[in-house]
Amino acid sequence: MTKELGIGIIGTGFMGKAHAFAYRAALAAFPEIPPPRLEMIADVDADAAAKAARQFGFLRSTGNWRELVQDPRIDVVSITTPNTLHKEMALAAIAAGKHVHCEKPLSPSLADSVEMVGAAEKAGVTTQVGFNYIKNPLLKLARDMIAAGELGEITGFRGIHAEDYMHDPETPYTWRIDPVGGPGVIADLGSHIIGMARFLLGPIAEVSADVRTIVKSRPVARGASERRDVMVDDVARLLVQFGRGCGGTIEANWVATGRKMQLGFELTGERGSLVFSQERLNELMFYKAGGPAGTSGYVRIEAGPQHAPYGQFCVAGGHQLGFNDLKTIEMGEFLGAIGAGRKATPDFREAYEIQKVVEAAIASSRTRNWVKVG
Ligand code: NAD
Repeated sequence: MTKELGIGIIGTGFMGKAHAFAYRAALAAFPEIPPPRLEMIADVDADAAAKAARQFGFLRSTGNWRELVQDPRIDVVSITTPNTLHKEMALAAIAAGKHVHCEKPLSPSLADSVEMVGAAEKAGVTTQVGFNYIKNPLLKLARDMIAAGELGEITGFRGIHAEDYMHDPETPYTWRIDPVGGPGVIADLGSHIIGMARFLLGPIAEVSADVRTIVKSRPVARGASERRDVMVDDVARLLVQFGRGCGGTIEANWVATGRKMQLGFELTGERGSLVFSQERLNELMFYKAGGPAGTSGYVRIEAGPQHAPYGQFCVAGGHQLGFNDLKTIEMGEFLGAIGAGRKATPDFREAYEIQKVVEAAIASSRTRNWVKVG
């Protein structure tokens, strides 16, 4: 029988719960992976950890994350805490010989990412970073279609990740706004769409960017009169040039009033186009050039069991996958890779490559020049 893997999650917030859902469902979807055993969950708030252990089905909980990373019954550590804590937690877990899944962005700075990649590769542990949206089977289809030349030469990419969770100036100052945790929306949402662009089209070679702070100050707590200045960006707009030769645009925006999950792209080629939005994540629109003028147009490709691994969740097309299913695919791949002793994707090194684009964009905005990535 395949050896079980003891799972430890640090953090019980939005992503802590998503990871718990995913580890619980992974074996049902992917029976060949090493069975995950939900061993321990940690939070800085010990009561929250104990409550989450009961609710999510973990055997034990702790208020001290170091206890979790040192625990001999834990093989895999998931880090779902604010960005500023990722490096310290990941380095401690790697030093203890654990495989590490870390939420995105990998770290607040490129220098931190370099250290994390170096430690993980030296220790030979398996790593993965939470760029879950590229686990959508329709994005794999898009990538395969591009690679097979179905769109011909790619001529352009217009990508966006826009949401509105920071649009209200009365939304308080939190770790997401604190520059200690990174540069703002360009890292928080920008890393997702940069990662998606790289997943589809390969490396981005050069950027010219403009990053802006729209909400200049925020209350220290909801309803408080005391305010703090905001030092990070709310909107980032990038012109990008891919290594393969085509150009494009990328926008990251967390003050896009009304938008909840506009993560998507329009991608054009000489012979066809693809359009995708996470708001309708079970659909990929495909336009094939050269059809009869009167009847040609976009075809809606609907996700179904023919798009692996959709069929691991549901035998019927059109019944649709959701966000937690993408997270389950991610964790299924991660545990499968650990079991097979192979690399998982996207790993710390890929997250570091994404971070290089983020830092090039910030440098470009500061100097008002095109900047080469890396
Ligand atoms: P959150 O605020 O909801 O949760 C953070 C958790 O970390 C809380 O439970 C908090 O108590 C805990 N925590 C804080 N300090 C700690 C410490 N010292 N020890 C143990 N626990 C501690 O945040 P979130 O929205 O879940 O975001 C967490 C991470 O996930 C961030 O890096 C974020 O960028 C990322 N994220 C990824 C996605 C995605 O789609 N992959 C979506 C949202 C957030």
